[in-house]
Amino acid sequence: MSEIALKPIRHPKPEWLKVKAPSNGDYHKIKDMLGALGLATVCQEARCPNIGECWGGGTATFMLLGEVCTRGCKFCAIKTGNPKGVVDNFEPEKVGYSIAQMKLNYVVITSVDRDDLPDQGADHFARTIKTIKTNNSKLIVEVLTPDFRGQRELIDIVTLAQPDVFAHNVETVERLQKKVRDPRAGYKQSLDVLTFVKEKDPTRYTKTSIMLGLGEEENEVIQTLKDLRNVGCDVVTFGQYLQPTSRHLKVEKFISPDEFLNWQKIAEQMGFLYVASGPLVRSSYRAGEFFMHGMIKKNRENI
Ligand code: SF4
Repeated sequence: MSEIALKPIRHPKPEWLKVKAPSNGDYHKIKDMLGALGLATVCQEARCPNIGECWGGGTATFMLLGEVCTRGCKFCAIKTGNPKGVVDNFEPEKVGYSIAQMKLNYVVITSVDRDDLPDQGADHFARTIKTIKTNNSKLIVEVLTPDFRGQRELIDIVTLAQPDVFAHNVETVERLQKKVRDPRAGYKQSLDVLTFVKEKDPTRYTKTSIMLGLGEEENEVIQTLKDLRNVGCDVVTFGQYLQPTSRHLKVEKFISPDEFLNWQKIAEQMGFLYVASGPLVRSSYRAGEFFMHGMIKKNRENI
């Protein structure tokens, strides 16, 4: 799982990465409600710059299973530790309640990695999907999951709960995986997650995200896109990597908006159903969710 933390340090930010902090009343009301329920959103944890736009526009990303991850990816600002098997069993209901209060029509459910749990949190994901879909059958649910160490039976548990979109991030090109991600993660393992979802249920949309600016070469990005298309991945997003603290990986390059546009065109030509590409694009991104919402709603009407 990942969202990219947006609190860069040391590097002067180009103009196109400067955003205003959210300030409207709705934002603060929602923040207080989530705090009272003890729920975490990636929107807040990752200090996402799009938070005002998303929360005001009917989408949000909830983070299940706590705020401590058993992994330590070198780009991610989320705390690493051992949550010692602690799980809030009421979390699926709390998330359902918050979704109703926020009047969301598209929700992204993600989590920290929980290597300390026997099923790595797969059943908790499935229970949450089922609970929130039972509460509101019109809601569109996207999950952004860990790799479940590539264990097919765990990925099946989540797929069978029928999230509308199953996302898992490859994060970067194959060569940079070891440098960027926790050693337990891996390029093939992440491709396997996307493969297993499609094999179990070809009607699920699959999605992944790639961070740019970590030192990847153009041909390596092209190869990654080819590998993703080979496993039937439907949606890809590209965003700028930003260094959350001095202990994290440095930004190797700020990619210009024109270069992002170019990646969008290349990926579209390769047959992805939808591509979001821009400096501030994150794996959960309102414009992408708007597109997926429209398409899934239309599909449901045609059934
Ligand atoms: S798995 Fe890596 S990217 Fe995901 S929350 Fe844990 S440390 Fe962050």
